[in-house]
Amino acid sequence: MIGFGNSPTCEECDEWLTGRQTRFCSARCKMRARRRTGPKPAEKVCRLCGATFRPLRGKQTYCDFANDADESCAELQNALAQEVIAKESQRWDAECAREGCDDSTGWDGVGRPRRFCSDRCRVAHYRAEKRQAGA
Ligand SMILES: [Zn+2]
Ligand SMILES: [Zn+2]
Ligand SMILES: [Zn+2]
Repeated sequence: MIGFGNSPTCEECDEWLTGRQTRFCSARCKMRARRRTGPKPAEKVCRLCGATFRPLRGKQTYCDFANDADESCAELQNALAQEVIAKESQRWDAECAREGCDDSTGWDGVGRPRRFCSDRCRVAHYRAEKRQAGA
């Protein structure tokens, strides 16, 4: 598109340029053009299936389930999710470490499960341990 008296137009939106603008009418158009033509993120190798993929997120280590994963990778990803769920439920079911107490210790949903259901059990456990060590 040619503007008034051959004045140049924005490469991104065809808006006429003014003043000292040479390629884009605004910083926004410049950014948009750069994003469209800029370098794509480097390909990574999927740690599950070994295929290469372009990560959508920085820390992505395997194919994106919705975009890149083929059937075999999708299966592996499902298995991985199952494993995580199984591990979590193990933590939810963790039992108090004090002998004779079967109470669930409860879990906050992060990190390791607690070892004892209560402070009372914790104290009793270490007291018993000490007694055993002393005997
Ligand atoms: Zn523009
Ligand atoms: Zn994969
Ligand atoms: Zn207990």
